[in-house]
Amino acid sequence: MMANIIEFRGPALVSAHEERQGLWSVDGTLTFQRPASAPDRVLEGWVLPGLVDAHCHIGLGAGGAVDEQATLLQAQADLEAGTLLIRDCGSPGDTRWVQQRTDLPRLIRSGRHIARSRRYLRGLGHEIEPDELVETVRKEARDGDGWVKLVGDWIDRSIGDLAPSFPARTVKEAISAAHNEGARVTAHCFGEDTIDHMLDANIDCIEHATGLLPRHLARLVEQSVPIVPTLVNIATFPDIAAQAAPKFPDYAERMLRLWDGRRERVLEAFEAGVSIYAGTDAGSVIKHGRITDEMQELHDAGLPPAAVLHAATWGARAWLGAEGISEGASADVVVCSEDPRRELATVAALKHIVIRGKVVR
Ligand SMILES: [Zn+2]
Repeated sequence: MMANIIEFRGPALVSAHEERQGLWSVDGTLTFQRPASAPDRVLEGWVLPGLVDAHCHIGLGAGGAVDEQATLLQAQADLEAGTLLIRDCGSPGDTRWVQQRTDLPRLIRSGRHIARSRRYLRGLGHEIEPDELVETVRKEARDGDGWVKLVGDWIDRSIGDLAPSFPARTVKEAISAAHNEGARVTAHCFGEDTIDHMLDANIDCIEHATGLLPRHLARLVEQSVPIVPTLVNIATFPDIAAQAAPKFPDYAERMLRLWDGRRERVLEAFEAGVSIYAGTDAGSVIKHGRITDEMQELHDAGLPPAAVLHAATWGARAWLGAEGISEGASADVVVCSEDPRRELATVAALKHIVIRGKVVR
């Protein structure tokens, strides 16, 4: 049988500062060596590794797990946006079947969210008390693909404000248990104190991170803990605040304050040298397929295009242990009409999308 060959004609951006000419996909594998036979397809433009959505929820809807058809549509919407690798940040259903489908984005699962009883969106997570945390984390560490997701804080209606979900000491034991299982842990953190607790506990990543304070920045850098700001989701805070205001005015005010500082927090983190990755939080509230909106948000916060691209391609892939554009890597790439380092908006209208050597567009 003849090999299936795609020729990429244009600069292949193997990193922010290195481009190469001459890239082919031969039966789904990238190579810089010109194949003996003529290509079946020629795709012209600037080639980037497939986009990464580092905080996404596949198989999750507003009320919990959704069926296979709905899950499929979510994954396809992400694919159409150029997202070819997803770190799932918590899903109540079993989405392992997605990993068997060669026409869908690659998926790294975190298992199910772990939240405090009655302190999370209903139907999404395990809702547990502190004495169950270590065991639940251990179980999810075994079920997931190397990641565990904690809901680090949420509104505590008894005090009418945001508060950490679990005692700091218990979180520390739980994260240590996950590390013993070989898994990394990430946590939803809206508030300030939660980030201290998580850093004390040697967390591996912080989601949302709206409560970042100057005191956290050096620790994030020293401990190599990245943040995934999910700015397209933070944009919903004013709605959350408006709904909560009549009953929980302090909480509402706090959410508005966190929303107001969202871009400054991201820029401060970037300037301090904290690793930042692009995540949409698509799933329960945010629609799938919005990775390039998140990239634009990161740019609006002050990240230069190369840093935004790092957050959604080269950097995110290296962090997750996934291949980029290299000899022998899977042909999971997107092709832009213009140089995305000069014109970031070009990623919102990708010319071509190729997954495992198949041209999706
Ligand atoms: Zn999420």
